[in-house]
Amino acid sequence: MRRKVGEQTYGDSQADVRDELRDYSTGSCSDFIDVVCKCGGREFHLAVDEASGTAIRTCWRCHQEHVLAGDEATADLEECECLCGADRFELSCGAASDWFFVGARCSACGLTGCYGDWQSAAAQALLARV
Ligand SMILES: [Zn+2]
Ligand SMILES: [Zn+2]
Repeated sequence: MRRKVGEQTYGDSQADVRDELRDYSTGSCSDFIDVVCKCGGREFHLAVDEASGTAIRTCWRCHQEHVLAGDEATADLEECECLCGADRFELSCGAASDWFFVGARCSACGLTGCYGDWQSAAAQALLARV
């Protein structure tokens, strides 16, 4: 279930991230993957550089870093932080035909949002290995 508070949307489960991306993309985003680390962890630290189309996630449990999209070496990454100040997220990524989306839900307050989206001809391929 999602609830609106002003401009923000809060969710109580990871599934709400998908709905957030559906709304954000006005329905064009239709394929989703809920991100799970190899260790089984579902909470991540997230860094994004929208200009270069780069996103990196770091697992809270095992600290393994994984590139969701882009090239870490050339990116100007910014650490994502929720409005509440927390930086621990459940992630669900999405793809439209040629567009890639990084959605997240704050583990602390439940705020859901799209933390990055950009055009990518390889959006489906990116989604397959988030
Ligand atoms: Zn992990
Ligand atoms: Zn929060």
